[in-house]
Amino acid sequence: MLKKDIPFFAQKLNEMFPDAKTELMYNNEFQLLIAILMSAQATDKQVNKVNRNFFEFLKTPEDWMKLWIKEITMFIDSISFFNNKAKNIYNTCKILKEKYNSKIPKTIPELTELPWVWIKTAKVFLAVIEDAPYIGVDTHVHRVLNRLWLVKTKSPNETDKKISKWFTKENHGMLHNTLVLFWRYHCTARKPKCRECPFLEKCSYKEKNLD
Ligand code: SF4
Repeated sequence: MLKKDIPFFAQKLNEMFPDAKTELMYNNEFQLLIAILMSAQATDKQVNKVNRNFFEFLKTPEDWMKLWIKEITMFIDSISFFNNKAKNIYNTCKILKEKYNSKIPKTIPELTELPWVWIKTAKVFLAVIEDAPYIGVDTHVHRVLNRLWLVKTKSPNETDKKISKWFTKENHGMLHNTLVLFWRYHCTARKPKCRECPFLEKCSYKEKNLD
């Protein structure tokens, strides 16, 4: 990535999405972590549809631990990998309760000790909850940054390694949230809105959609 271009990139995205925030529904930090865990290989809409019914009653690790894993499985069975996710949600709640007095730790090493919390998950959580200078690099972010002039990499992991040291509180500017909205609603996989894109002149993507 061209580090010097980050402020320009972040500013343009902020102009496009001035009120950017996660589209996952949550009422507290704990619910955000659970929603992010559930969103692996699932859309925010699918996760919200499930949580809309349950977050009113399930606000703390203790609330979830009153349930059997089988009940959690039934609650979330419209979400991919629901069996694994149910077990991991339960075990995450157990660790949070026993080790952290039901508070959510705020460092990547502590977060990644929780079941199913990978580095990307931890970064997304910290970026959303604290505007920490991280970007959760998934296949979509990897795709968009490679379409632009910013990186030339072969995998999300490579992209993450390349860009992760370049962000600071000063130049980051809600980049995680704006970038998610950018790939979701603007630089989409099949029909990117190139004609109205602020990066049109700099973008290196060869198959621009100029319809
Ligand atoms: S010009 Fe098109 S392909 Fe390039 S970043 Fe903008 S929307 Fe995406």
